[in-house]
Amino acid sequence: MAFTLIELLTLVAIIGVLIALLMPALNKAQTGGQRTACLTNQKQMLLATQLYLEDYPTWFYLTADTCDDRAPSAFHPRYLPGTRTFLCPATRNIIRTNLNAQGEHLDLLRSSQGNRLDPSGGHSYEFHGWFDTAPLAGKRKTPANTVFGPSRAMLFTDADDKLPGVPGDVNNFPDAVNNHGKAGWNWAFVDGHAEWITRNQTAEALINSLHATNIFMRPLPP
Ligand SMILES: [Zn+2]
Repeated sequence: MAFTLIELLTLVAIIGVLIALLMPALNKAQTGGQRTACLTNQKQMLLATQLYLEDYPTWFYLTADTCDDRAPSAFHPRYLPGTRTFLCPATRNIIRTNLNAQGEHLDLLRSSQGNRLDPSGGHSYEFHGWFDTAPLAGKRKTPANTVFGPSRAMLFTDADDKLPGVPGDVNNFPDAVNNHGKAGWNWAFVDGHAEWITRNQTAEALINSLHATNIFMRPLPP
């Protein structure tokens, strides 16, 4: 018995409705999976900081100044053999194999600034190796000066610099263009834990970690 045209069209329509119903759930599962995989990356890098500390006891990672995101080049390959660990799976960021004159991976020396669509080369994380605010403003983070709160002193995050040419993008605050969009971002802390920080939790988390914040980051009124 053959299907009539009407029966086939009805079947196609039903399948279309089912797909439309499933899409939000699938997207949500994908988004959650990306956040979890990103957290796993950060936990791997936290283990690398522990190994790094064994060799350089006052350094969580190599950092020359507050804007320095070269830590992955110091982790790799000695403490972290793979380079995928330095890519947030919610982004299109890539790490190429091009080296500079010193034999360092160029794309491990710089981050993609939190531009999730950037395929031009650069890792996905930002290394906040120096405090911004009193009483430790301008000091490099060390095991000794983070004892005030190892669970709130942050070591690195999903990258988020102010992107050139993106109006309204705020530095160190989740925006649509950033790795996980406006919802939030992953942070890694001195005590070895990594955690999802929502947009509304960001201002308080920055303050708790002695980093600069601004009025636009305050939790939004309900
Ligand atoms: Zn991420």
